[in-house]
Amino acid sequence: MKFSIIADFYEKIEETSKRLEMTDLLVQLFRETPTELIDKVVYLTTGRLYPLFIPIELGLAEKLAVRSVAMASGHKVSEVEEKLKKVGDLGLVTEQILKTKKQRSLQQKPLEVLDVYETLDKIAKASGAGSVEAKLKLLSRLLLDGTPKEAKYIIRMVIGALRLGIAEYTILDALAITYTGDKENRAILERAFNISSDLGLVAKTVATKGLEAVKNFKISVGSPIRMMLAQRLSSPEEILEKMGGRCAVEYKLDGERVQAHKNNGEVNLFSRRLENITEQYPDIAELIKNNIKPDRAIVEGEIVAIDPQTGELLPFQTLMRRRRKYGIKEAVEEFPASLNLFDVLLVDKTDYTTKPYTERRKKLEEIVKKNERIKSVEAKIVENAQDMESFFEKAIEEGCEGLMAKSTQPDSIYEAGSRGFKWIKYKREYKTEMIDTIDTVIVGAFMGRGKRAGTYGALLVAVYDQEKDMFTTISKVGTGFSDTDLQEMPERLKKYKIDHKHPRVDSKLKPDVWFTPGQVIEIIGSEYTLSQVHTTALGAIKKDSGIAVRFPRFTGKWRDDKSPEEATTVKEIIEMYQAQIKTQPKTQKENSDS
Ligand code: AMP
Repeated sequence: MKFSIIADFYEKIEETSKRLEMTDLLVQLFRETPTELIDKVVYLTTGRLYPLFIPIELGLAEKLAVRSVAMASGHKVSEVEEKLKKVGDLGLVTEQILKTKKQRSLQQKPLEVLDVYETLDKIAKASGAGSVEAKLKLLSRLLLDGTPKEAKYIIRMVIGALRLGIAEYTILDALAITYTGDKENRAILERAFNISSDLGLVAKTVATKGLEAVKNFKISVGSPIRMMLAQRLSSPEEILEKMGGRCAVEYKLDGERVQAHKNNGEVNLFSRRLENITEQYPDIAELIKNNIKPDRAIVEGEIVAIDPQTGELLPFQTLMRRRRKYGIKEAVEEFPASLNLFDVLLVDKTDYTTKPYTERRKKLEEIVKKNERIKSVEAKIVENAQDMESFFEKAIEEGCEGLMAKSTQPDSIYEAGSRGFKWIKYKREYKTEMIDTIDTVIVGAFMGRGKRAGTYGALLVAVYDQEKDMFTTISKVGTGFSDTDLQEMPERLKKYKIDHKHPRVDSKLKPDVWFTPGQVIEIIGSEYTLSQVHTTALGAIKKDSGIAVRFPRFTGKWRDDKSPEEATTVKEIIEMYQAQIKTQPKTQKENSDS
């Protein structure tokens, strides 16, 4: 398969302004892909070489990529840098520069997908002495052999900025259509994906062995399971009603979720985005190794930063200082952390995901050797609102965010990758007049003026519409950013910059800069209001109006641990808007309706 086929499709995908067209284009691409290459084409399309949980990444430093473009084109490094400053996207710069290069030799063979994949793989894996030069050489060779258009995509892949913004679920749709002729079968592919987190493997299996083989997927130690997520409601009464009058409640801690896989002496830790984060948390890996009794197990919990003197819980931002590539040993000492377990998915050969909550929780208690650094989270069964409320107060007093209510019904299995009502979060902010913080995706930016010249003045942020797989705008945020945030913003968002509205974004506003949905940030505001400008829940409450956040402010939390699809959903916004209306005095309600 020629790499030009892929490059042509990427260009079409980039040009489309319709979300549904993305699926059709993917189907066409997959139809042109030989089955033995489908896993590789799927990984490349997600901007990777392997599934997320395998820590082999492209992401070459841009400086090196610039050198390699210079090498391949015969330009000076400073010339490439100059152009990059003006254009901002090294992919485009590469394409432009190579277009003006002299004719390529006629004997040159066109680039093959396999050759590109294997060379990128070598680049990603090269390490140690001499590896920089080796990477440069490998990359320059690809750039020389490829057409300018191919080079544009190769460069973007190499620096980790492909920015196609295709959801995993769109790829699953396209795979179902391509290989089974029926989009309905996506549910079967989705289940396999939820328990293996490996799109390439799902693709290869359905393409070569058919749907039956996909049905036989089982969870296994080493492959992360897509995490179960929670809905949110704003009162104990509503929660109890949804749960059938009785449920478990657990402390909801404000840290980083982790899924730990133990296989004899080997431990792997995965984040909620399914990245392998073992290296960042050697202390937590040790705890799992020594304090989880069975040889093989998968458990889940929350890593929380603690004050070693008092044992008190510290906020999420403190823990995020552990997210670094260098100086890990120092960080372990400077920001000590504890592990608070709340679920078990596998023990030895037994799959626990299909067992009800109470059984899982009981097993969890059995398998943990507890100490002050590793424990199971406080939990309790409640049957009335009062008990839930007092447990909530206690949780807040002890520094938690609120509670996680969990169903105890016979069907309360661990639903991999799903956000249902079997888990419901109940957070502190609902209690005050302030609205809860929400996680939003940056989809655009407005240029700053005056003091903010040269950076962004405000960001256009969106929430996730799960049904339509779209991002709808909810606010323009310009406050709450520190000077460092502002300074670093253009660099941080650079890899998401595109030159037109992304097809998965629904916006009436036209910002100066558009982004592929990628970066999640937490914001808070004073309340929700109806809006003519924003597209969230358009028409759901009132004809032609959407819902917006009033007086929005960045909370300081860059939610690098969340993928855009894990942002707050439109459904949650509607529920919070309705909860707010219920508690507002009438005059205010009328105001917000106007
Ligand atoms: P949110 O990020 O607000 O959607 O809330 C869900 C997150 O709460 C999970 O992904 C966990 O990281 C975290 N969490 C804290 N405590 C618990 C708990 N007891 N059970 C489940 N999740 C918890």
